[in-house]
Amino acid sequence: MLNIKNLHASIEGKEILKGLNLEVKPGEVHAIMGPNGAGKSTLASILAGREEYEVTDGEVDFEGKDLLDMDTEVRAREGVFLAFQYPVEIPGVSNINFLRTALNEIREHKGQEPISAKDFMAMVREKSKLVELDAKLASRAVNEGFSGGEKKRNEIFQMAMLEPKLAILDETDSGLDIDALRIVANGVNKLKSKDNATIVITHYQRLLDYIVPDFVHVLYNGKIVKTGPKELALELEEKGYDWIKQELGEMA
Ligand code: ADP
Ligand code: MG
Ligand code: MG
Repeated sequence: MLNIKNLHASIEGKEILKGLNLEVKPGEVHAIMGPNGAGKSTLASILAGREEYEVTDGEVDFEGKDLLDMDTEVRAREGVFLAFQYPVEIPGVSNINFLRTALNEIREHKGQEPISAKDFMAMVREKSKLVELDAKLASRAVNEGFSGGEKKRNEIFQMAMLEPKLAILDETDSGLDIDALRIVANGVNKLKSKDNATIVITHYQRLLDYIVPDFVHVLYNGKIVKTGPKELALELEEKGYDWIKQELGEMA
């Protein structure tokens, strides 16, 4: 589904990603962990198509197509969902209208008819229940006046509604309380299917008490330097990242 090969990327002339490789297959949940400043959010930003980052080498293939060549809207239509900690507010546009437009764009891209009002509302009810989102929030303007926890819940609601093939969640180190962690984890667990995949980028071992990833990767100094099963997260929790630096030192 997603194949990242030898990705190098810079910001303001400083190289942040230094030859990153990652392969994600349908049905898999991948966790990317790593110390602060390793390049985790940079990776998420590049997959999201943010323009301030310059890709200097490597490729990103999504279902046989060049992801880096697509603009942000096209990525969404192709089934890539990118969530950030504080998605922008869209004053005056209700969540529901925003999602209906987004969903219909995805459907049109797949050659499907727009969803009927009745089916759409049924879907809103089903998915808001799934992520325990208050129906009132679903109708409010996108993220306007939302608390941190509500934004998080809303983000997972958006993910549930859009049913992406690949969801990329960057859970940065600030502002995620235990409740928000639980919401993200429940969302990821409930939406898991054999056809879709999720990449959860996290600084928190704790998140992985709730999500059971198929793979845990350590991103360090711009590369994925270690990959293991879910138990790797526990090892990182216990030992931190220093032992990985030492292992790398011994290899060099
Ligand atoms: P992580 O998410 O793993 O903590 P980031 O990807 O946010 O790491 O950052 C990686 C490195 O890139 C850090 O050294 C950070 O200072 C630098 N960096 C990130 N964004 C910018 C930016 N907009 N301008 C300059 N440097 C940046
Ligand atoms: Mg950081
Ligand atoms: Mg980060």
